[in-house]
This record gives sequence, C-alpha cells and structure tokens, in this order.
Amino acid sequence: MSVLLSIDSVCKNFGPYQALDNINLDIEQGEFIVLLGPSGCGKTTLLRSIAGFMQPDSGSIAIDGQDVSRLPPYRRPLNTVFQNYALFPHMTVLENVAYGPRRQGVNRGEARERAREALALVGLEALGERYPSGMSGGQQQRVALARAIVNKPKLLLLDEPLSALDMKLRKRMQLELKHLQAKLGIAFIFVTHDQEEAMTIADRIVVMNAGRIEQTGTSSAIYSAPASRFVADFIGEANLIDYQVTGNDEIRLGIRNQPLVRNTSAIPSQGVAVLRPEHLQVLEPAAAETPGCHEIHGTVSDVVTVGSHTLIHALIDGQMIIARTMGFPGPDMVAGSTVRLGFNPAHLHLIGESV
Ligand code: ATP
Repeated sequence: MSVLLSIDSVCKNFGPYQALDNINLDIEQGEFIVLLGPSGCGKTTLLRSIAGFMQPDSGSIAIDGQDVSRLPPYRRPLNTVFQNYALFPHMTVLENVAYGPRRQGVNRGEARERAREALALVGLEALGERYPSGMSGGQQQRVALARAIVNKPKLLLLDEPLSALDMKLRKRMQLELKHLQAKLGIAFIFVTHDQEEAMTIADRIVVMNAGRIEQTGTSSAIYSAPASRFVADFIGEANLIDYQVTGNDEIRLGIRNQPLVRNTSAIPSQGVAVLRPEHLQVLEPAAAETPGCHEIHGTVSDVVTVGSHTLIHALIDGQMIIARTMGFPGPDMVAGSTVRLGFNPAHLHLIGESV
C-alpha cells in the first residue's frame, strides 16, 4: 500500500478558537477511514480542508504526492457526499448522476452510460428515470453516492451521510457502503460522531477531540488499548479507575484495598485503569474464591436490561462501576442488593497520566 493523502501540520483557527491543532495524518490508497469525535471537535473542518472548501491557516495537504493546499475543490481528485444529499430536484436520477461527467466535457451518450454504471453499483439501475422527490431517503443517499463516484475520484469524502436515515436503514447502509468501498477500491474518509457506526465500517478510526487527533488505529486497537482517558471513555462503555504504583511491583486501584501485583517497571507511576464492563463477572454470593480472580464488592444502584445483555451499575468505594452480563439478571439482582464482582487483572488496561 502507498500513501494517498498526506496531511502535514494542519492548523485552523476561527478567531481565538483553535478548530484544528497541528493535524498530521497519512491515509493509504483504498483505506476506509472514519473521523470520529464529539460535536465541535473539528471533524467537519478537517474534511472541508481536505475537500478545499476551507483554507487551513498553516500546514499542507497532498494527494498522491501533489500539494493540493492551494487548489480549488473542483481541481482536487476527490468528491464529497454531504449530509443532505444535495440532489438537483428538477433532474431525473440519471441526469443527476450524469451531471458530473457532462461538466467535465464528456458527451451526453457517454455521460449517461457512465451514470448507468454508477447507478448499477449502488443497485439503482432500474430507477434512473425517476425524480429525487419520488425516492426514499436511503435511495436518495445511494443516488448521492452514485453521483460522487461516477467520475472515479481517488478519494471520497462523506460528511455524516447516513445521519438522516432511521436506525435500521442506517445499519444496512453502513454495510452497503463498506461493500461498495471494497468493490471500488477508492479511499473513503467518513465523518461521524457515532462510535458504533465508526467501528462497523472503518479500516482505521481517527479519534478527534478539541481540534487534535487523540488516537488513530483499528477498531479493536482503539477499543482494547485506548491511548487516553478520553478515548477509553468515548469508545464503548468503560470503567475508568484511578491507579497508583505504590511499591515494588504493586499497584493500588481506587476501588480496592488489596494491591495488584504486576511488574511495574514499564508502568507510569499513576494514571487510569480501564476495565470494560464485559470483563467484570457477577459472582454468586456463596461461590468460593477463584485464584487469579480479583474481587470487588458493592451495592447495586441500577439494573438495565436491554434484551441480549444486562448492565449492572454498582457503587464501589464511592465510584459507579458497570458490569455487563449476558441475558436477564436473577431475581435477587435489584437496586440496594450487594453484588460481588470479579475480574482478571490481565484485562486492566493502564494509561499513565502526569500530575
Ligand atoms: P459536528 O459533529 O457538530 O458537526 P465537528 O466535529 O464537525 O462537529 P466542526 O464543524 O469542525 O466540528 O467545528 C469545530 C469547531 O469550530 C466548533 O467549535 C465550531 O463551532 C467552530 N467553527 C466551525 N466553523 C466555524 C466558522 N465558520 N466560524 C466560527 N467557528 C466555526
């Protein structure tokens, strides 16, 4: 694989507000990248800078080795799919898709042929003569996609393209998009604030916070080894427990008196331990202690059953801890009852933090 897009030290300020703070990112040919982060973290600003709709204050953006920082959007080898589809209402679907090649000087017959091919790729070959107003949200989104890929860009930018769809359709479209991207081999950069969506579709996720990149990696790397407290908290459910190295090979957690024994030579002296709810086991009150299983005891405050699993919220040493169990809870698992939870210390992911 070779680098397609190279973002080097990009900064963007809006008055005193720093929307992009020294962004550095390389994207490979054919990669599916998701820019993920909370509202206002700078995702759209970064996407618009790549597209050319916005000029960074400093830094450079190169595509295939060519610096495109000063090129207008239409001169960059990319296309953008917007949240609102932006289809022309007075044109048929086929005309909407053929518009791009026509603007590039392709003759009418050839443009329509390319449009038919693009529509076939998104499964809409039979609906070319319809108008956008006669199509569902999901179909309009596919037309927008067909229009964006018809000129075979090297890079496709997608700004929350599925946010207007209902949950079921959105989940189906996520998989469709992933299949389409694999078929086309075009690199996609997709913006969302939905971490489940990001994990479903991305080859690599770029987690952003307050104008900076917090971490870049595969879904599993980001979930199992978050680089910061922010990433641990933002991606999935996490128990974040303060820790301190208190002695030779001894770590003390904020929720447990007995220290953990672990080789501490490579561990920062303090920080946060991440423990995912699925790594906490609910133990039977009378069960014998298991070697290697560390126990914590607390009081149940809430029991939330969502069908496939149950979340048990328990107060332990003043901190709310969440455990996830499969299926439905037993009749004794109610608010106010005592709960015994166990975990394997190997599942703790430690993130060092300076004072
Ligand atoms: P969302 O998920 O809500 O779309 P985002 O991560 O895409 O958020 P951006 O739209 O990139 O965030 O905005 C980043 C920050 O820059 C925000 O605080 C926003 O208010 C600010 N901002 C964006 N565009 C402008 C502008 N034209 N003028 C002033 N501030 C702006």
